[in-house]
Amino acid sequence: MRHLAAGLLAATLMAPAAAAQDDTVTSQCLDERVCVLFGPGGNVALHRGADGLILIDDKYERTGEALLAAIAQLSEAPLSFVVNTHYHADHSGANERMRMAGGKVVAHRNAGRRIGEQVAAAAARGEASAEEWMRLPVLTFDSEIDFHLNGERIRVAHAHHAHTDGDSIVWFEDSRIVHMGDIYFKDVTWPYLDLAAGGSIDGVIAAVRGVLAQIDEDWTVIPGHGPVATHADLHAYHDMLVSIRNAVAAGIARGDDLAAIQASAPAAGYAVGEGFITADKFIEAVYKSLRGETDYSPR
Ligand SMILES: [Zn+2]
Ligand SMILES: [Zn+2]
Repeated sequence: MRHLAAGLLAATLMAPAAAAQDDTVTSQCLDERVCVLFGPGGNVALHRGADGLILIDDKYERTGEALLAAIAQLSEAPLSFVVNTHYHADHSGANERMRMAGGKVVAHRNAGRRIGEQVAAAAARGEASAEEWMRLPVLTFDSEIDFHLNGERIRVAHAHHAHTDGDSIVWFEDSRIVHMGDIYFKDVTWPYLDLAAGGSIDGVIAAVRGVLAQIDEDWTVIPGHGPVATHADLHAYHDMLVSIRNAVAAGIARGDDLAAIQASAPAAGYAVGEGFITADKFIEAVYKSLRGETDYSPR
């Protein structure tokens, strides 16, 4: 009887703990200035110093408080800026909360436009709060924007038609760390190409190739999702993307339909998790991207 009661108690205690664990934000500091915050949503980079905190991405709206709490464990400095690597809600969802905490949101012009469209759509459905407009970036740019803060040059550069049409790659030049947003998914899922929002396989490959050309072996690479990576990891990712892209292109040239190309298993042999995107959904995205089609949904 006592065992049963203990078992019930354990089950009762574990249920809420398990639910809470889902929103837990964990951190890994790469040097004195730059930390990565994991947990739900995209990977966040935090830059710390006397000028205040700069965040790269801010996860979901629902995890905004957990993110701020995790940041408070790492620094007492005020939040200065937030860069959105793109418009998806797992990277820009807490913009409103971060802005209320003092963070000025910066994003590529297309990312800002798409966030604006989401805010307008929510308003049309009657679902927008009075503060919904605070999700919008305060500053947008077309090509590049540099920050000179905390003794570091932080370069934010647009990548054309990669994961979306509003992607930014963020370079911590002195720390030798680059945050690639969802241009780079490491291990946990096959890549997601948001074709409906201007993404493309050739844009992703070009962006990855561009990063590889600009970093040395000792750089650290932060992917949009998954663990922190190295130059060698990014090189392997590039080669995998090229291999799959070329296999799909060869199938299209032979006149194969999508099902036949998927059956030829161009993604076989790569150790990637069947996460948000399965191998077959990724091959579908590559196929449609090469054919100029945009009617793609990850589910
Ligand atoms: Zn993402
Ligand atoms: Zn994304």
